[in-house]
Amino acid sequence: MSSPNLVFVMSDDHAAHAISAYGSVVNRTPHIDRIAEEGVRLDKVYCTNSICTPSRASILTGTYSHINGACSIYSELDYRVPTYAQILQAKGYQTAIFGKWHLGVTEQANPRGFDAWRIFPGQGAYVDPVMYGPEGEEVVEGYASNIVTDLSLEWLDARDDDRPFCLMVHHKAPHRPWVPDEKHRDLYPVGSIPEPPTMWDDHESRSEVIRNVGMTVGDHLTENDVKEPLPEELAGPDKFRERASWKYQRYMRDYLQTVQGVDDNVGRLLDYLEEKGLADDTVVVYTSDQGFFLGDHGWFDKRLMFQESIGMPLLIRWPGELAAGTRCEAMITNVDFAATFLDMCGVDPDEELPDNQGRSFLPLLKGEEVDDWPQSMYYRYWEHDDPEHHAPAHYGVRTHEYLYIVYYNDGLGSPGSSERIMPTEYELYDLVKDPAELHNVVDDPAYAEVRAQMEAELARLQDKYRDEPYRGPDTPRLDWSR
Ligand code: CA
Repeated sequence: MSSPNLVFVMSDDHAAHAISAYGSVVNRTPHIDRIAEEGVRLDKVYCTNSICTPSRASILTGTYSHINGACSIYSELDYRVPTYAQILQAKGYQTAIFGKWHLGVTEQANPRGFDAWRIFPGQGAYVDPVMYGPEGEEVVEGYASNIVTDLSLEWLDARDDDRPFCLMVHHKAPHRPWVPDEKHRDLYPVGSIPEPPTMWDDHESRSEVIRNVGMTVGDHLTENDVKEPLPEELAGPDKFRERASWKYQRYMRDYLQTVQGVDDNVGRLLDYLEEKGLADDTVVVYTSDQGFFLGDHGWFDKRLMFQESIGMPLLIRWPGELAAGTRCEAMITNVDFAATFLDMCGVDPDEELPDNQGRSFLPLLKGEEVDDWPQSMYYRYWEHDDPEHHAPAHYGVRTHEYLYIVYYNDGLGSPGSSERIMPTEYELYDLVKDPAELHNVVDDPAYAEVRAQMEAELARLQDKYRDEPYRGPDTPRLDWSR
């Protein structure tokens, strides 16, 4: 097997339940679906810190946030931790990245290991975005998702045909504030989008910090988000439901329209690979840096350790190597991506990535039995009580049967936070009886043994990944300056 090419397409905040290959009931994504039809759909892929900057750092380096330094959007990727792009470049791959980077603002945080790169500053803009690269910055006219694909195809056209390539296509869509391409403005009109089954979750059994997050569709989506002023008659405290439904339709209309811009551009890329005879030798990956609440539990946004937020879509096509139309239900995290891509390219991740904490899931993609594959995943969200979303810092463990979360409630991970000190709170969900994660049973005596087991598993994973449990306000802080 010669070294395959790798095309890694990543969007931003694209939840799996807005992809028809994952059974979406709100939209169709025919081009992204092609990857699933011709490859593998992975159903239990989790982000280990559900927010943009940290997820990108974990994907590139195969490490948890406390190892790579990118714990929150206030921090940046530690340039001393190698990325899989650097390894592939050193092995003779041609490498490029176009689109959203968002791994810091200093020069040291610029992309490393790429022959070519042009990225948005920070989040980037949807229309006529500024882009910068080794030769400086300029405004590029047009719509971001189209531009990122144009740059990718131009680079592919100009590359050396004799060497394999690794191309990262990083869309900024469908990140807030959800500005669609003009040509998609008629799609998914207001009134046509079904509300999710958990939209009216009353959160009764949850922690106080979770009941108070600033992520409700009804009260926290802004006029800027929904693009028109709220009608006066929906403003009162007794109108929460009507207001949430009204905002939901507008939020989801725009979100799904921006998703369609990504889907169209995935189609352009797949068509190009076929036209140029590259499809058979190229691994195509589609993913998103994390999931998103699409009105689920009454919320938008991500951050929290619930399914809709930490679940990542992951579709992989590799003709001749991976069987078409197959599924993988093993528990995988974004920390496993780098090891897997290196493995696909014939590189031993443990030899080349000294800090690697992930494991190649290539054998699972090939349908092989792996007896000792992990049955649990460790999660840690470092930001605490940011001024907009008021999401609490927390860590936890997820198995196939249970979800256990500790909200330790200190501003350890957020230099910008208000650092309100609140008591530690706990949640436990029985994912077999309660797959929608609605009923916190942490204080139910019937679950005392399960809770003890999950606490022990959490401690085991923190030790395995060299993280530290929270030990009160005096816990040593991360060095944000490195
Ligand atoms: Ca994101």
